[in-house]
Amino acid sequence: MANLPILQYEEKIVETVKQNPVVVVIGETGSGKSTQLSQILHRHGYTKSGIIGVTQPRRVAAVSVARRVAQELGVRLGEEVGYAIRFEDRTSERTLIKYLTDGVLLREILSNPDLSPYSVIILDEAHERSLNTDILLGLVKRLVNLRASKLKILITSATLDGEKVSKFFSNCPTLNVPGKLYPVEILHSKERPTSYLESALKTAIDIHVREPEGDVLIFMTGQDDIEKLVSKLEDKIQSLDEGSCMDAVILPLHGSLPPEMQVRVFSPPPPNCRRFIVSTNIAETSLTVDGVVYVIDCGYVKQRQYNPSSGMYSLDVVQISKVQANQRVGRAGRTRPGKCYRLYPSTVYHDEFLDVTVPEIQRSSLAGSVLYLKSLDLSDINVLKFDFLDPPSSESLEDALKQLYLIDAIDENGSITSIGRTMAELPLEPSLSRMLMEANEYGCLSQALTVAAMLSAETTLLPGRSKSTEKKRKHTPLELPDGSGWGDHIQLLQIYECWDECDYDVNWVKDNGLQVRGMMFVKDIRKQLCQIMQKIAKGSLDVRANHRWKESRQDYRKLRKALCVGYANQLAERMIHHNGYRTLGFKPQLVQVHPSSELKTDEEGLLPNYVVYHELIATSRPYMRNVCAVE
Ligand code: ADP
Repeated sequence: MANLPILQYEEKIVETVKQNPVVVVIGETGSGKSTQLSQILHRHGYTKSGIIGVTQPRRVAAVSVARRVAQELGVRLGEEVGYAIRFEDRTSERTLIKYLTDGVLLREILSNPDLSPYSVIILDEAHERSLNTDILLGLVKRLVNLRASKLKILITSATLDGEKVSKFFSNCPTLNVPGKLYPVEILHSKERPTSYLESALKTAIDIHVREPEGDVLIFMTGQDDIEKLVSKLEDKIQSLDEGSCMDAVILPLHGSLPPEMQVRVFSPPPPNCRRFIVSTNIAETSLTVDGVVYVIDCGYVKQRQYNPSSGMYSLDVVQISKVQANQRVGRAGRTRPGKCYRLYPSTVYHDEFLDVTVPEIQRSSLAGSVLYLKSLDLSDINVLKFDFLDPPSSESLEDALKQLYLIDAIDENGSITSIGRTMAELPLEPSLSRMLMEANEYGCLSQALTVAAMLSAETTLLPGRSKSTEKKRKHTPLELPDGSGWGDHIQLLQIYECWDECDYDVNWVKDNGLQVRGMMFVKDIRKQLCQIMQKIAKGSLDVRANHRWKESRQDYRKLRKALCVGYANQLAERMIHHNGYRTLGFKPQLVQVHPSSELKTDEEGLLPNYVVYHELIATSRPYMRNVCAVE
């Protein structure tokens, strides 16, 4: 910590912050922006008048950095240093330095538009250009004028075009913190490999056998290919002749890993042991892993994109940008001179890679963000003319308005309705918020809360597929009561109901091949959503009483009606003679039910005539994911 580059600039940073309401700090990844800036300002008295809030686009980073800072300051996490991420708040009355996701700060603005508890807001990792950070940039710009001398804003970035942000904030000063980077030799493949997984495997083994000590960081695209590579590497390394190379530890690193697995990358390896860290782009700039000397870059990243003209999401493996490729190179030169193996030719880098990554705001559905901005009631802000660093297309803003209109969140003049206002208070996407409100009217709120909680934690419910967990999984298929064939929402509800019936027994979860951590998370989310609904209804709801929904078990008609209202823009009609569907949105699409769905066919082998779906996703073909029968 003592030799982190940013600490040499302590005086300069403090002086500049004192003189200016907004300061941009540009510094190499690992220079200490996330862990040290808050501590520097704390040392110089900024926590006397309020909290120092540091936003992170990723949940993992908020937790990991808060843990580190608490450790450095020698305090218990959750006390002077804490974190808040959606559905998890580890802060207390005593918290002075608070790490929070950008989404959580947006929620706080709803109840406290001036952010009065804060003396400093640090928008960290702004180069990631997450949708929420982009909206925060516009909102804090407004706050600077309102709270003039009382609030300091710092915007930090590893790669961001400092001039552009400085201009956005009336030419505020930009501080550059030069990092200490050793030279990194870049080695390109002669051609694109047919399988980047096999090519990464071969390169990793070559390094292990031929190169001197030093950890290897391998960039893959997502949990799936990370787990495959980890398993293949384990096999290959075990089969190597003992004595021909040092010991090895292989560590996966991605956002859905349990926290105790994530922190393993921060503990140094035993002597004479090489670590292979197989990671998503999370290790590009969000988490700095020390000790890396070799980087293997597959040249791809998994990106979720939304197409407003079809209403369809796709989770595409796309080529990274030049900025990302260079960040990946940099990871090899932090400790000593390193090497970066690019699994693509230099012509691909030069001719095909975009210069910079497309900001999330230009590839996301904006319904939630537009509703949020409208609910702020800022008379000086017209959502369509909001001050964006890079504006989204008018097509995606129109798409958002149409979606909101269909679920009664805005009226024909585009003004927010009372339903919309309540929806905005729930930390859920608009369709689920709307479903909860309708369910409250129909008396099936308890069931709807479970569905919303299960959908919110879906990715943590099933265990990873790495070889080691595969071996441990021995379970009988889940036996659910009648009705699960109506679709995925009902099945999710029934899973939770069964768990509730056996008093939240963890063995039941394990026996059914689900993740204990995931199910506990669902229980917690459900409780929190329940509290928020109670608050909205000023305590008049009876959602705590579980027995009420036990009585109505297997009566899912009301719930399905509520789903139809929430998903009013997400309906599809089956073709006459086969199981293909046509969506009933503004721009009809031909789609299929996703193979993972539990939706059942009738005796003639046909699926229901009408269904609602949670999302449209284009993989090998366009699919509806999480589908429920309407009639
Ligand atoms: P930046 O934000 O400029 O990328 P950070 O402040 O995140 O830099 O990292 C500074 C140093 O702190 C790095 O050496 C990194 O490895 C270390 N570090 C960050 N988080 C943790 C953690 N949770 N545990 C251990 N070390 C950490």
